[in-house]
Amino acid sequence: MRVTMIGTGYVGLVSGACFADFGHEVVCVDKDRAKIEKLENGEIPIYEPGLEALVAENVKAGRLSFSLDLAASVPDADAVFIAVGTPSRRGDGFADLSYVHQAAKEIAEVMKGYTVVVTKSTVPVGTGGEVEEIIRKTRPDANFSVVSNPEFLREGAAIMDFKRPDRVVVGVEDDRSRKIMRELYRPLYLNETPIVFTNRATSELTKYAANAFLATKITFINEMADLCEKVGANVQEVARGIGLDGRIGSKFLHAGPGYGGSCFPKDTLALVRTAQVNDSPTKIVEAVVEINDARKKKMADRVIAACGGSLKGKTIAVLGLTFKPNTDDMRDAPSLDIVPALQKAGARVQAFDPAGVEEAQKILQDVVYAEGVYQALEGADAVAIITEWDEFRALDMERVKSLLKAPIMIDLRNIYNPAEMADAGIEYHSIGRP
Ligand code: NAD
Repeated sequence: MRVTMIGTGYVGLVSGACFADFGHEVVCVDKDRAKIEKLENGEIPIYEPGLEALVAENVKAGRLSFSLDLAASVPDADAVFIAVGTPSRRGDGFADLSYVHQAAKEIAEVMKGYTVVVTKSTVPVGTGGEVEEIIRKTRPDANFSVVSNPEFLREGAAIMDFKRPDRVVVGVEDDRSRKIMRELYRPLYLNETPIVFTNRATSELTKYAANAFLATKITFINEMADLCEKVGANVQEVARGIGLDGRIGSKFLHAGPGYGGSCFPKDTLALVRTAQVNDSPTKIVEAVVEINDARKKKMADRVIAACGGSLKGKTIAVLGLTFKPNTDDMRDAPSLDIVPALQKAGARVQAFDPAGVEEAQKILQDVVYAEGVYQALEGADAVAIITEWDEFRALDMERVKSLLKAPIMIDLRNIYNPAEMADAGIEYHSIGRP
């Protein structure tokens, strides 16, 4: 099948490369000239493990190409995916659909023959209908179907998630598009991936429901962590104790600084707004949004408290800036709340992140970026771990102590064991553990 992917970001590039790897002929289109030029030179504009090799193989096999020219890439496609951004709309928190609407219009202007237009972007219920209307208005003669096919991949494990997903959700309104979607995902039938066919509205809502549920799980365990701190319990053991219950499951029960990233914050907020305008408020998700925002803002207080109540004239080493490991994505990362709050409290921040520095430099001001973990620690009054990159998990504590002015560690991801840290002579602060 011939596939055109509009938007070559975290989702579009991974989906495009994986569809090509399934054997389809894929063109990934983007408006961002620098991105397309990099890709044409064999460079990957984002950090995603395994992606460079996958792209290279499929380009070499002639199944994957890149283009700035939407008009030339759409007419021959059997399916055109819209994988553009849907950020929070400034001011009101609804999903900003302007990129989706614009892409729909551009596709409509040039499509030829029967075409399935698929929204892969995360879009509120009813967007499929809007896309259909835009196309029909722009091109009353067009022969097309609009399908919803939300993406559930996780940055950092995106290829695995796309190729071995727990499920694929497809919202269709007719048989012709259903057949094409089935054909596109045929390789997944071999490993018996459940393909959940449903109507468009259900598919659109399923994506928000999934993200809101996961965000709720994280927020729940974060609140349990706070309670653990008050009553002398251990949140990791609580999480294990409840997670082994098959009805609950062990994933997304890691207490930390609050969720961030390119999806949960904006998607929970957009779901809250959709529910409100439909007169069916989701009180749980509203609370989750509020608690999580407050939590991220409060995290710097832990560092301040660990440093004796003041950061004036002190240096804090920060390890990890991205919203999670194995990505360079800084969107809504907890570090964006924590680092400025530390600076506001008077600290100088020395930070290291294995992949996020280039992005961080665009957003975080007045940070000294170190070239490695140990360089970030040099002369600092304390170290705060914000993102749990693997390379932070086995630090040489003797070296840590020799580099820091005082052996204080605030571990917002609970990657170390409190007893072992005490033995190592580190004054160790973590989340929800005695
Ligand atoms: P992104 O910002 O990384 O990429 C979007 C790309 O679309 C950009 O490169 C932009 O230049 C391009 N673009 C915008 N309008 C265009 C147009 N008219 N023509 C061509 N290119 C255009 O975004 P992303 O993180 O890949 O997210 C895309 C969508 O997928 C969002 O709705 C997001 O919520 C959803 N999603 C993201 C993830 C994730 O982990 N990042 C996971 C699941 C779903």
